[in-house]
Amino acid sequence: MVTTHNLGYPRIGRRRELKFVLESYWQGDIDQQSLEDKAFELKNQQWQAQSTLDWIPVGNFSFYDHVLDTSLMLGNLPDRVDSSLNTLDQYFQAARGRSSNTLHQTSSIAAAEMTKWFDTNYHYLVPEFDTNTQFELHADSYLSQVKEALANDFNVKPVLIGPVSYLWLGKTKDGSDPLALLNQLLPVYEQLLIELSQLGIEWVQMDEPILSTELTYEWQHALTQAYFSFNKAPVKLLLANYFGSLKENLNLACDLATAGLHIDAINARDEVSKVIDWLPCHKILSIGVIDGRNIWKTDLVKTLDWLEPIYQRLNNRLWLAPSCSLQHVPVDLVQETALEPEVKSWLAFADQKIEELNLLASALNDGREAVATELALHDLSIQQRQYSSRVHDASVKTRLATFLNDQGKRKSAYHTRVKHHQSLFNLPSFPTTTIGSFPQTPDIRQLRHQYKQQQISTAEYEEQLKQHIHFAIHQQETIGLDVLVHGEAERNDMVEYFGEQLQGYVFSQFGWVQSYGSRCVKPPIIYGDISRPNAMTVKWATYAQSLTQKPVKGMLTGPVTMLNWSFVRNDQPRSETCLQLALAIRDEVLDLEDAGIEIIQIDEAALREGLPLRKQEWQSYLDWAVRSFRISANAVKDSTQIHTHMCYSEFNDIIDAITQMDADVITIETSRSDMELLDVFNSFDYPNEIGPGVYDIHSPNIPSVSQITYLMEKAAKRIPAERLWVNPDCGLKTRQWHEVKPALEAMIQAARHLRMTQSVQD
Ligand code: GLN
Ligand code: ZN
Repeated sequence: MVTTHNLGYPRIGRRRELKFVLESYWQGDIDQQSLEDKAFELKNQQWQAQSTLDWIPVGNFSFYDHVLDTSLMLGNLPDRVDSSLNTLDQYFQAARGRSSNTLHQTSSIAAAEMTKWFDTNYHYLVPEFDTNTQFELHADSYLSQVKEALANDFNVKPVLIGPVSYLWLGKTKDGSDPLALLNQLLPVYEQLLIELSQLGIEWVQMDEPILSTELTYEWQHALTQAYFSFNKAPVKLLLANYFGSLKENLNLACDLATAGLHIDAINARDEVSKVIDWLPCHKILSIGVIDGRNIWKTDLVKTLDWLEPIYQRLNNRLWLAPSCSLQHVPVDLVQETALEPEVKSWLAFADQKIEELNLLASALNDGREAVATELALHDLSIQQRQYSSRVHDASVKTRLATFLNDQGKRKSAYHTRVKHHQSLFNLPSFPTTTIGSFPQTPDIRQLRHQYKQQQISTAEYEEQLKQHIHFAIHQQETIGLDVLVHGEAERNDMVEYFGEQLQGYVFSQFGWVQSYGSRCVKPPIIYGDISRPNAMTVKWATYAQSLTQKPVKGMLTGPVTMLNWSFVRNDQPRSETCLQLALAIRDEVLDLEDAGIEIIQIDEAALREGLPLRKQEWQSYLDWAVRSFRISANAVKDSTQIHTHMCYSEFNDIIDAITQMDADVITIETSRSDMELLDVFNSFDYPNEIGPGVYDIHSPNIPSVSQITYLMEKAAKRIPAERLWVNPDCGLKTRQWHEVKPALEAMIQAARHLRMTQSVQD
């Protein structure tokens, strides 16, 4: 018999219940007991939803983040956490800087750093280490989850982040080597494994996703050492790798002293037979055959064609699972009553993926005939999707083919273009601008809501939007900015706004996935060939331009960001989908240019996020990502100025690619610290113009003129002054006007000061 199991399940709830209950707790509206009660209810629902499987993952429910849970369990919350708080509040204080929104300022600390969980859009809280770090087991809350699940008769397989991945995910504050802590960490894990066995646990899942990355010999050795030391543990360990292929770690992963291995057959199908050959025959092999990162139905027939011979070889040693935890997909498709039925029939969210897993297992255990009807029905939608005219648009494919060898080069090089820009715009040195959005006031949100609910007509809606644009332009002129924006009042989200207007995109109602803590995102779904039926932003940009003599910058989201923040098609390479998006954006760029917009910004906030886990694979991603951006941007005249914006400042490792994009101006995030600013400019030698963000828009603090001047003077030491712009570090939509106005005024004053004090070459 084949065994089924799951690696993890969305914990946020079908309707984001966890989010709401957490936020009420932080707000002080409910007490800890009510929070725990609700969590208990959610956990039970989640276990129940997986109960048809042979083993369900337990211990991975989390109030904020499972890496922070691990830190708590290992006695490794940061020292600055207030130890007089109860455990839960200490945990929230580490996560958010404060345990409650109502507490006085003094009880806030620097929150733990947050960063992306491998190549997903989930963010975890980075464990902090130094040479004095001491681990100590505090497993009460973890063990009580396990006990709860056991008491309710579930087949419990506890899940842990393996010790080596845990160390790898953290940072040492004193520059010491995190691996030096391994010897001290292992006994704590061993103790936990003993306690789990005393509860009657048979299998424990140990996640070591670092096996999908390039590991040095030291990290590889640490894995060997760790699992050797667990060899005597009274439970069976299932070592789980996901998100990628094992490559040079394959033999190591097979040989580690564990009772089983889980591999990701969605990302690394071609490694499976090698693993089977290499895996010692006392070990079970769990194959992740259902995509835990995307929302498409699995082609079960094809999967069975492939799995049946494997099953014959492995027999009882074969386990089946999703490729990774299902926390990266929405909970239940059944809730989506508004989705186009045909498109809906192609999708599977977490609950549907569990059904698929059961179907596969039944087909293997009892023969395909036993589930013939279900398989046939499933297969029908797979076939329909393959041939649907909703998916395939011949004109898009034909058009794409004409771009086969097009590298998207601008007509002339930057030094020629810049002359046009100087004479056309006649901007002062240190020109000032913003990143695009202005405060999304309650009025604006309300307006969009009314329009969506069809409470107001299109004419009324557009009229009111124009008033908001008018207001934004007026404010910018009063403040004295040089290049203006329309303010993005019509946008709820920078991807959704465009996706809604493109062919090939659909939107779910409840397709939320956790981004971090109580924050969720609802990624749009790209299901078909992308095209742009109508202009998307021209109306707003030209209206804004009609109100002022100053240049108004058109504002678009770039193809790579559109791609990286969506669920994408799995029936063609990502690069192809990206190119289709690029063509749609290119059309918009050209329409803006035709309509008289002379400066156009194409945001690539998420370009870096798409980097593959292994460095060896970076270049091929960057090649098509950069080419897509260029194809979207570079059909314009020399006189049109292209801007791009990126929400980060780590450029050293991708600087060539950023340079290749050849935007006339890039605005970046740098303002968090001046050290960071120096680092950026020491390594990032951008050949065109650059706007280092001069203040942090995430904070309500108003920057002073001298702070901004100081930062820009530093920048001017590394970048010639004539190539510098002055701007905030990101869009202003989360701020309020009373914060934005004085901040931008300070920026303008700083720019005026710089113009008088810094020498600029013509
Ligand atoms: N133009 C967008 C804005 O200002 C850019 C946002 C972003 O980079 N995340 O909101
Ligand atoms: Zn940004």
